[in-house]
Amino acid sequence: MAKREFTSRRAPIFADIPDEKWNDWRWQLSHRLNSIEEIEQVLLLTESEKRALSANHLFRVDVTPYFISLINPSNPNDPIRQQVIPTDAEMDLYTGMMRDSLAEDAHSPVPGLVHRYPDRVLMLVTTQCASYCRYCTRSRIVGDPTAQFSRAEFEMQLDYLRRTPQVRDVLLSGGDPLTLAPKLLEELLSRLRKIEHIEIIRIGSRVPVFMPMRVTDELTDMLQKYHPLWMNIHVNHPNEITQELAQATDRLTRAGIPLGNQAVLLAGVNDCVHTQRQLVQDLVRIRVRPYYLYQADLVVGSGHFRTPVSKGIEIIEGLRGHTSGYAIPTFVVDAPGGGGKIPVAPNYLISQSDHKVILRNFEGFISTYEEPLTYSSHDPSTCAFCQDQRPEPGQRGISGLLDGEAMFIAPQGFSDTHTRSEEIHRLRLDPSEWQPLGIGQPLPDTEEVPAE
Ligand SMILES: *Cc1c(COP(=O)(O)O)cnc(C)c1O
Repeated sequence: MAKREFTSRRAPIFADIPDEKWNDWRWQLSHRLNSIEEIEQVLLLTESEKRALSANHLFRVDVTPYFISLINPSNPNDPIRQQVIPTDAEMDLYTGMMRDSLAEDAHSPVPGLVHRYPDRVLMLVTTQCASYCRYCTRSRIVGDPTAQFSRAEFEMQLDYLRRTPQVRDVLLSGGDPLTLAPKLLEELLSRLRKIEHIEIIRIGSRVPVFMPMRVTDELTDMLQKYHPLWMNIHVNHPNEITQELAQATDRLTRAGIPLGNQAVLLAGVNDCVHTQRQLVQDLVRIRVRPYYLYQADLVVGSGHFRTPVSKGIEIIEGLRGHTSGYAIPTFVVDAPGGGGKIPVAPNYLISQSDHKVILRNFEGFISTYEEPLTYSSHDPSTCAFCQDQRPEPGQRGISGLLDGEAMFIAPQGFSDTHTRSEEIHRLRLDPSEWQPLGIGQPLPDTEEVPAE
């Protein structure tokens, strides 16, 4: 089978636009389509789309001329169309929907900065995007033309970062950081770089997909001054991978920026093993490593995009072993209420005994791994990295249970509702204090059960 050709498309109404305009990101931004009248010149709109486009309370619509040109105008179910053109379904309510499903606002020590994990933060630096995804997890804040970049908030965020030394990774998102004015973006990066304990900076952006012409040599020359810099882009369907995107990712990777992809699993768009396999294989061809595949969040207006979680497991089952490991993303559910990203995967471990692990592979071949009979455990007292750990305030999680610092994790209020909780805390006995009970004595707190 021959490899897929990446194409380049322009809707007929843009045929006469001179190349220097078409290839200018400022032209693309200022000629975005958002009204029925404009979009109708490119697509034959359905009644449902027209109703949604004339409802003025829905989340903002804007599509770059470049991106709308990738839609097949005669297909109402086109996978790119569904991502950017609203329908009636956005007005549907469903059980479980939330305004801020990831509880980001509740995890923000200062406005626009989400600190949920020990060593890294998410910084929301703008509310603007090049085009608006109908399933946006931040539709509650994104797209508001009156709330752009806030300098006051940025100063508060920097101040928080300066006094929080455990943060070594800062993730710029929004909105889309690459829609910021070039000077402002550079100011953000240079001021973050001045903070000694920040090791890496990441940018989450869909600009290379919505408007690949933004990735100019000037942009990559600027970005590479702030290494180590990583970037995640957002491609959901193979039709989004064009010659222009391939050129943009080539420029970014030549500038030394490792690229990842974060896709969202969307009903009717990419809920298909074969579509996903094509997507991830095309991504590695343009040197983008699939990073996460997200279960759709419980956001108002996006219920029609949701799939069962099992669809994601089925997709990973169809990728692992079947294609390059580099091409396989981690499927995650971002836990509603702010639990963070939780990986969900098919089970490969079938059973275990003292010295054996039974595993199955993608083909259903079942194998035994014989574990060592003797294993001298790692000695933390002679390990420099064990001795010199960054502080990780708060709970150390399941990892803390494994290394024996804690024996259980209990929900808040557990000791109030469980009267025996004091005893639970004394269950672990110190061997040096252990007094064997005399034979025949009943154990404390147990009732004697009369023999039949
Ligand atoms: C996704 C996310 C991160 C980064 O998580 P990684 O798994 O390291 O990519 C950090 N903070 C928040 C709030 C996030 O949602």
